[in-house]
Amino acid sequence: MKADATTKTVKEIKIDIEKCTGCRACEMACSAFHAKPRYSSVNPARSRIRVVTDEINDEYVPVRAGNFTRTECDGRHHYQLNGKQYSECSFCRASCPSRDFFIEPDSGLPLKCDMCEDAPPLAEPLCVTVCQPGCLTYEERQLETEADELVERQAMERGLASLVNQHGIDAVIDNLKRLSRG
Ligand code: SF4
Ligand code: SF4
Ligand code: SF4
Repeated sequence: MKADATTKTVKEIKIDIEKCTGCRACEMACSAFHAKPRYSSVNPARSRIRVVTDEINDEYVPVRAGNFTRTECDGRHHYQLNGKQYSECSFCRASCPSRDFFIEPDSGLPLKCDMCEDAPPLAEPLCVTVCQPGCLTYEERQLETEADELVERQAMERGLASLVNQHGIDAVIDNLKRLSRG
């Protein structure tokens, strides 16, 4: 790492599915943490982590809520696990109109995992703390922002190259000049 490089902390929750017992303590803890007032109620429907459960095959997959999406996918795939078929939606992190997961039951607002970052700060996300079997573990790692910038620059260069291929260099330059004047 260069001495003058800026770093940012990337927070991750690792999920070891083999260790999940389906106890759903994570769901209860998450919903209690986000209740108003805090810890005043428990309702897994308000949890930002849900456990996809298949008791017959003894399989449990915790899924943390990700971004909101306005529309559902128009092409989905299916997973075949130990002879059982699962829709892509089963393990998807999106708050999506196709299902009830990650949608606040009273308000209909999307739910998203916030890593329990509300004040007062916790030593680690609450779902990790209550997960006694050790299925969930919390990790932090440092990422050089220069690496991010490089990825962004490469993406921009690919986009520009594509525009030049489609419209020609002169048209792209004309439009860039016009945009810079605006
Ligand atoms: S608390 Fe841990 S073991 Fe229990 S359901 Fe959640 S992830 Fe699985
Ligand atoms: S839940 Fe996920 S996979 Fe299913 S339609 Fe919505 S975005 Fe697509
Ligand atoms: S990190 Fe916090 S907000 Fe995210 S799923 Fe776990 S308990 Fe819920």
